[in-house]
Amino acid sequence: MKKKIIILGGGISGIYLGYQLKKAGFSITILEANNRIGGRIYTKKTHDTKVELGATWLWRYNEELLKVCKDLNISLFEQNMHGDALFEATNTDMPQRFQVPKNQEISYRIVGGTLTLLERMTKYFSKDELQLNQKVLQINDDKTSIEVITEKSAFTAAIVISTIPPQLLVNSVSFSSKLDANLIQIANNTHTWMKDAIKFAIVYKTPFWKEKGFSGVGFSNVGPFTEMYEHTNFENNRFAFMGFLHGPLANESKETREEKIRKQLFKFFGEDGINYLSYEEKVWNKEEFTSFENDKFINPHFNNGHSVYQQEFLKGKFIIAGSETSPSYGGYMEGAIYRGNQIVEQLINKF
Ligand SMILES: Cc1cc2nc3c(=O)[nH]c(=O)nc-3n(C[C@H](O)[C@H](O)[C@H](O)COP(=O)(O)OP(=O)(O)OC[C@H]3O[C@@H](n4cnc5c(N)ncnc54)[C@H](O)[C@@H]3O)c2cc1C
Repeated sequence: MKKKIIILGGGISGIYLGYQLKKAGFSITILEANNRIGGRIYTKKTHDTKVELGATWLWRYNEELLKVCKDLNISLFEQNMHGDALFEATNTDMPQRFQVPKNQEISYRIVGGTLTLLERMTKYFSKDELQLNQKVLQINDDKTSIEVITEKSAFTAAIVISTIPPQLLVNSVSFSSKLDANLIQIANNTHTWMKDAIKFAIVYKTPFWKEKGFSGVGFSNVGPFTEMYEHTNFENNRFAFMGFLHGPLANESKETREEKIRKQLFKFFGEDGINYLSYEEKVWNKEEFTSFENDKFINPHFNNGHSVYQQEFLKGKFIIAGSETSPSYGGYMEGAIYRGNQIVEQLINKF
C-alpha cells in the first residue's frame, strides 16, 4: 500500500484523482462538503428524465476527457442544432427566425447525463473512500503528516490535494501554517468558471418546436434567457429546453424568474411554450461550495492555469488541483482531467 492521500472535493477533479490514484495503489479518501457528488456537474432528475444544470457539453478537441470517456465506456451524442433558430432583438419586436450556419463546431453530450461519467468511477469507491457531507474547515500542517478537520471529524494523511476552486479555498478553509502570500494573492484573483451562471431547464410532453421546423435554439438581447438549446435525451423520448438566464436575475425569487421565462416562452412559441411539465433552475452564485458572498468581479478565466499552481505547498504535503489550476482548458471539464493527469504522474514518480 502506497501513501495515504486525502482529496478535498468530489467534483470531476476529485473523483478522477481518487479513481486514478486508487488504481495506482494509493490509499485515498475523498471529502465532499455537499450531500451529492459532482460539484459544477449537476444532472438533475425531473419528470422521468434528466437535465443538466451544470456542465453539459464536450468537444472533439477535449482529448484527455474523451480518452476517459472511452476508457469508461461512456457514449456521446451530438447536440441537436437542426432546424431554425429564433433571435429576440428587443422587448417590442417579435423574435426573428434564422438559420444557424452549418459549419459550427459540434458540441457533444453524454448519454444518460454528465453525472454518468462520475458514477462510472465512484462505483469503485468504498463508503470510507468517498464521504459526503464532510465540509472541510481547516488544514493542520505537521512535520511528517497533514491533518484535515471537517465539521464532523479529523483525518490524517501524507498528502492532501484540494480541488476546491482556488478563490473559494483561500476564503473558506483555514491553515495552521500560513500559505505562501503569492499563492493567496493569485488564488484570490482566479476566476471560477461559470460561478455566476444561472441555468434553467424546461421539460415538455412533446417536441412541438420540431413540427414547426425549429431547432429549439433561441437567443435574446433582452432576456430573461439569453441563450437556449434543445435538451431532448439521447433516446429521443423526453423533450426539453435548457439555457442560461441573465445574471442579475440571481437576486430575484425563483417564482419571479419562472414567471418572466413563461412570458418570454409565450412570445417565442405561443401556448405550446408555456404548457411545460416542469421548470428547473440552478443559481450558481448562491451555491455555497462554488462561490461565496461578496466575491469580487474577476474577468472570465483570469489566472486559470497560473504557474503558481504547479508548485507544492506546506513542504510538499499540499497540492492544489481543480479545473481552474489547469494549464490547458482551465475552467472546463477537460481542464479538470488534464490537471488530474499531471498530478497522478507527479505522485507516481515521487513515491
Ligand atoms: C452552469 C455551468 C455550465 C458549465 N458548462 C460546461 C460545459 O458545457 N462544458 C465544460 O467542459 N465545462 C462546463 N462547466 C465547467 C465545469 O462544470 C467545471 O470545469 C468542472 O465541473 C469543475 O470541476 P472541479 O472538480 O474542478 O470543480 P467543482 O466541480 O467546483 O468541484 C469542487 C468540489 O469541492 C467541493 N467543496 C467546496 N468547498 C468544500 C469544502 N470546504 N470541503 C469539502 N468539499 C468542498 C464542492 O462541493 C465541489 O463538489 C460548466 C459549469 C457551470 C457551473
